[in-house]
Amino acid sequence: MRRPGVLAVLLLLGIAGALAPAAHAIHKLRVVTTIPDLKSLTEAVGGDLVDVDSLTRGTQNFHEAEVKPSMMLKLRRADVFIENGAELDTWADAAVLGANNGNIVRGAPGRIDASRGIPLLEVPAGRVDRSMGDVHPLGNPHFSLDPGLAPQITQTIVDGLARRAPENRATFEQNRAAFLAKLDAEMTRWTKIMEPLKGRRVVTYHPDFSYFLARFALVQAGTVEDRPGIPPSAQHLARLIKTMRDEGVKVVLVQPWNDLKLANRVAEEAGATTVVMAMSVGAVKGADNYLAAIDYNVTTLAKVLR
Ligand SMILES: [Zn+2]
Repeated sequence: MRRPGVLAVLLLLGIAGALAPAAHAIHKLRVVTTIPDLKSLTEAVGGDLVDVDSLTRGTQNFHEAEVKPSMMLKLRRADVFIENGAELDTWADAAVLGANNGNIVRGAPGRIDASRGIPLLEVPAGRVDRSMGDVHPLGNPHFSLDPGLAPQITQTIVDGLARRAPENRATFEQNRAAFLAKLDAEMTRWTKIMEPLKGRRVVTYHPDFSYFLARFALVQAGTVEDRPGIPPSAQHLARLIKTMRDEGVKVVLVQPWNDLKLANRVAEEAGATTVVMAMSVGAVKGADNYLAAIDYNVTTLAKVLR
C-alpha cells in the first residue's frame, strides 16, 4: 500500500512542478501610464502579459491633471511606468515621488518616456517663459493620436516592457506586429477618406491636433488660445475671426473641457461651427481604444468638412 502513496506524492510534486512555471508565466507586468492613449497602446503590445492602468481619463485636460493619493497607490505597485514626456505630464513626477517605488523613478529600467525618438512639432524658436503659462515649452507634446507615430511609440513601449520581462520580448514583438498590421489597414482606409480634405483649413481651441492634421495634410489656421495654455485677448480673437472669414475656415475643433461658450462665439462670428473631437482615447463616446479614437476623429472631420 506504500507504493501508490509514493506515487501519489511524486504525482503531486509533478503537478506542483508543472504548475510552478505556469503560475510564474501568468504573473502580469503591472503597468501604469499617465494618459489613456498609452494605456491602449500598451494593452495592444502587452496583451495578456500586462495589467495596465492610466492615471488620467480621456475627458481630462492632461496639462492640468491634479496629483492625488490614488495615483500614488497605483504607482506604488507598478513594475513599469509610462509617461508621455515632452512636458505634457510633468505633474506625474510628484506622484512618482510620493509612490516611493524604485522600479519607476527616472532612470530606472521600469520608466518609459513615450516621446523618445518623436520629432516634436512647434518647437519654440526662442526661450519660452514658463512663468507666463505657456504649456508647450519643448514643442507640441500631443503626438500620441497621430497614427503615423504609433510604430515608434509602440517600439518604445516594447523595449521598455522587455527590459522588465526579457523572456516575453518575442511575444511583445508579435503583438506589436499584429497591431501594426491592423493599423496599416485602417491607415489605408483613413487616408482615402481624408484625401479630398487635403489643404483644408481648420481652427483648434488648443494646438492638440497639430500632428493629426499634419499627417493628413490639413492646415491649422490658428488657435482660440493666444498661445498654448494662455487664454486669448480680445485682439487675438478679433484677428482670429478675421482670418477665419478671409480663409473660409468652417470648423473650430474643441475638446469637451474647453471653454465651449467662447469657442461657439468665435465660430458663430466667423460663420463656422464647433466640433468636439477625441483628443485622447476615452474623450468621447465610442473612442474607447486607440484605433477607435482615430477613427472617430477621421470620420467626424470628414463629415463636417465634406
Ligand atoms: Zn497642450
